[in-house]
Amino acid sequence: MGKVIVVGAGAAGMMAAYAAALGGNAVQIIERNEKCGKKLYITGKGRCNLTNNCDVQDFFEHVVSNPRFLYSSLYGFTAEQTMDFFSKELGLRIKTERGNRVFPVSDKSSDVINSLVRGLQSKGVDIIYNKRVDRLIISDGVVKGAACGNEVYESDSVIIATGGLSYPSTGSTGDGYMLAASAGHSITETYPALVPLMVKEEWVKELMGLSLRNVTVSFYMNNKKIYSEFGEMLFTHFGVSGPLILTASSYLTKQIKSGKLSMYIDCKPALSEEELDQRILRDFEKQKNCYFGNSLGKLLPKKLIPVVIKLSGIRYDKPVNSISAEERRKLVRLIKNIGLTVKDTRDYNEAVITKGGINVKEINPSTLESKIVKNLYFAGEVIDVDAVTGGYNLQIAWSTGYTAGSSI
Ligand SMILES: Cc1cc2nc3c(=O)[nH]c(=O)nc-3n(C[C@H](O)[C@H](O)[C@H](O)COP(=O)(O)OP(=O)(O)OC[C@H]3O[C@@H](n4cnc5c(N)ncnc54)[C@H](O)[C@@H]3O)c2cc1C
Repeated sequence: MGKVIVVGAGAAGMMAAYAAALGGNAVQIIERNEKCGKKLYITGKGRCNLTNNCDVQDFFEHVVSNPRFLYSSLYGFTAEQTMDFFSKELGLRIKTERGNRVFPVSDKSSDVINSLVRGLQSKGVDIIYNKRVDRLIISDGVVKGAACGNEVYESDSVIIATGGLSYPSTGSTGDGYMLAASAGHSITETYPALVPLMVKEEWVKELMGLSLRNVTVSFYMNNKKIYSEFGEMLFTHFGVSGPLILTASSYLTKQIKSGKLSMYIDCKPALSEEELDQRILRDFEKQKNCYFGNSLGKLLPKKLIPVVIKLSGIRYDKPVNSISAEERRKLVRLIKNIGLTVKDTRDYNEAVITKGGINVKEINPSTLESKIVKNLYFAGEVIDVDAVTGGYNLQIAWSTGYTAGSSI
C-alpha cells in the first residue's frame, strides 16, 4: 500500500480518492479551489443528474467519443453500482426520473457533494485546498509526486482528475492537458461541446426565448444531410440552443468549425408537404377575407409568425383568398425547412463538456494508467471521452475515477 495523490476534487477525483483509500492507500487530494465539486454543484441545473439508470449496452449508445475505450471502466463500475454506492454506501437518497435520469431526492447537488466529502473523511482522505498543481515529479519514467510552485508532494502514484476546459470559473482550465503533455502524452484537439450554436441570420434575435417542441432539425454540409434529430430547441439572441441543438453540437464539432454547415428546421415533421398544404388550404378557406398575416395563428407559435411572413415573401396584408397555389407551396416548403447558417459554437464558458483531451491510445483502458509514465493515472473529462446529456458524463467520471483509484 502506498501514498496516492489525486489532482482535482471534482466528480472523478473524489471517486478515485475514495476507491484508492478503500484499497488501503494513504490518499491526498489537491484541489485548487477552496472547496470540492464546484462544477458538480451546478450540474443538472443545481439538482445533479448523477447518472443514467440504463443498462451498460444502452449506455454506450450515448457516448460520443471513444466508447470502446470506456468498456472496462463502465463494465467495472456500472450505473447500477453508482446508484448503490450513493444510496447504500454514502446514505444519499436518490430517485429516477423521466429518461432514466437519476437525481438526489432532495433535488440538491450540494447533497451529492456533501455525501462524497463525508465518505472521503470517513476513509481518512486528506483534502488540501487552495493549491494548484503545476508540475509532476517524474524520474526514470516513474511518477514520484506533484508540485505546487515550490511545494513538492511526494507519492507513489498520481491520478490526474482536473477536468476539461468548460465552465473555467469552476476551476477546470485545462491544467491536466499541460501536466499530461509534460509526461509525454499527446492531447487531441479540444472543442466546446454540448454547446449552443451561433448563426448568421439576424432575424433569430426576434425569436429570442422561443422554444419549439416536436420539431426535426437537419444539418447539411455541401448539400448533403449529415445529421437529423427530432426534439426540442430554443432560439437565443445569437442563435440556437436547447436539448436537440446541444446534442447536435457534440456530434458535429468538426463540421461546425468548417463554417460550411447549414441547418433546416421542420416545424411540422408529422405532416408531409401535401398534408401541410391541405391543412393550410383548410385554414385559408375558413378565413377567406383575412389578411395573410392573420391567418397562421393556429399553425405556428405567435412569435414565429412575423419571421415566417418575412421569409415567405408574401405581403402581410395580402388577402388570403388571393394567395396563389405556388405561393402556398412556397410557404409549405418554408415551414418545413426554415434555413439557418451555422457560424460557430459558443465558447467554453457555455459548453457543458469538452470534446477531445488526453489521447486514449496512450492510456491502459483496464487500469487508466499511463502507458508512458508508470504509476500515473487519469480519470474523468480530462481524457478524450464525452457523452450526451442525461447523466452519462458524470457516470464516465465515476467509472473512470473508480477504475483508476481501485487499480492502485
Ligand atoms: C453547467 C453544467 C451542467 C452539467 N450537468 C451535468 C449533469 O447533470 N449530469 C452529468 O452527467 N454531467 C453534467 N455535466 C458534466 C459534468 O459536470 C462533467 O462531466 C464532470 O463534472 C467531469 O468531472 P471531472 O471530475 O472530470 O472534472 P471537474 O468536475 O471539472 O473537476 C475537476 C477539478 O479539478 C480541479 N483542478 C483543475 N486543475 C487543477 C490543478 N492544476 N490543481 C488542483 N486542482 C485542479 C478543479 O478545480 C475541479 O474541482 C454538466 C456540466 C456543466 C458545465
